[in-house]
Amino acid sequence: MEIVLASRNNKKIAELQALMSEILPEIKVLSLDDIGFCGDIIEDGESFEENAMIKAKAVAERGYIGVGDDSGLSVNALGGAPGIYSARYAGEHGDDEANNQKLLSELEGKSDRSGAFVSVVACAMPDGECFSVRGECPGIILTEYKGNGGFGYDPLFYYEALGKTFAELSMAEKNEISHRGRAMRAFAYEFAKRI
Ligand code: IMP
Repeated sequence: MEIVLASRNNKKIAELQALMSEILPEIKVLSLDDIGFCGDIIEDGESFEENAMIKAKAVAERGYIGVGDDSGLSVNALGGAPGIYSARYAGEHGDDEANNQKLLSELEGKSDRSGAFVSVVACAMPDGECFSVRGECPGIILTEYKGNGGFGYDPLFYYEALGKTFAELSMAEKNEISHRGRAMRAFAYEFAKRI
């Protein structure tokens, strides 16, 4: 059986394939390129769930089992921001550095620096059935960068249980506890129950 992750990011495809293989070895994870899907999917939802489902449904409409994911950083003292706007927090052309600098300036003087990375994985079947799962990982936003690995907000995101930022973890360590790892594992279990 094949499922299609609504992404062209080969790292995400490989991550989901690896997790699925542990639980459902017969599932093959395809990308948008694998099914010849050339267009862009407009993510104009108002929550992680809505955006993930928009992506999953865009694939399901073409007759495949569609899987979509959406993730970001939610900071308590900022009312959940940057949230679904995490990638473009510092503006449409904002890069990781600009986004991190904006986060640091928005949190200046705030005593509560707690937050969580959030990842939602949604699944839509061609017959209209759909579901979504959520993975979260709590952390503290540091006042300066620590570590050189990862991407996005990783160098500012301190995971207390391991005493390191996400930028100091190996890929395997991060996948074990990250929001995305948790959501993808939850998806794999939930999917297994339904087929
Ligand atoms: P996406 O939905 O996975 O493309 O993530 C959207 C944005 O959320 C990214 O561009 C990052 O800014 C942020 N983000 C999501 N997951 C992570 C993570 O694991 N580390 C750091 N930043 C992340």
